[in-house]
Amino acid sequence: MEKPLYPSLYMRITQGYNTGTHLNSYAIDEAGKDSQISILRAPFTGIIKKIYKEDANEVWLESVEPVEYPDGTIDYMTILFAHSNDISNLYVGKKINQGEQFYSEGTKGNATGNHCHIECGKGKFIGTGWYKNSSGYYSINNGKKPEECLWIDEQITIINNNNYAFKKIKNTPVEKPTETLPSIVAPPNNNPQDSVEKPIEILPKKIFICKKDDLYGVYLKKGQKLYIQ
Ligand SMILES: [Zn+2]
Repeated sequence: MEKPLYPSLYMRITQGYNTGTHLNSYAIDEAGKDSQISILRAPFTGIIKKIYKEDANEVWLESVEPVEYPDGTIDYMTILFAHSNDISNLYVGKKINQGEQFYSEGTKGNATGNHCHIECGKGKFIGTGWYKNSSGYYSINNGKKPEECLWIDEQITIINNNNYAFKKIKNTPVEKPTETLPSIVAPPNNNPQDSVEKPIEILPKKIFICKKDDLYGVYLKKGQKLYIQ
């Protein structure tokens, strides 16, 4: 199951939520590494559900499957991007894979300097995708704080996280090979009287029966013994 990733390799949040033009919303502005146009990655594998070219080239991407939120919630997620100057390669119904660079920063619509306006919504795309909030700004339906939706990983450089505590994906530990070496067992002793004098024969536990002639490899640690019958 996918963990939605923060869409920029350089996190530089220039405007947080619930302030200025983001009043009464969980929108953030992501400006990338520098003042140039950075390209953002899809946080999850999704389908473009809506494109709105009349304003800021808004694009809604809905996850194809439920994703894992940082608090462990499993649900669909919809994300809204805005301000790209060129979305000519995007269309409703287009599938975008997680990590795919698909949306550029820009200045289309009400924007100063190249950035991308991002809003996360819990669940699938519903209705028209947004609503006019009490401050008069259009905001994604079921909006949710970005740090409660998006993860960060080792690749992301944080320039300014606006004091939002994004949860980091831990590196998946390399799986150690399981110990499959035979455990040594003593055979059942049917004659207890003999047990003192008679040396106990130690038999290995059979873990593998060779079905055909071939070359086989086995990993052994120093001091371990291999019995072949
Ligand atoms: Zn914004």
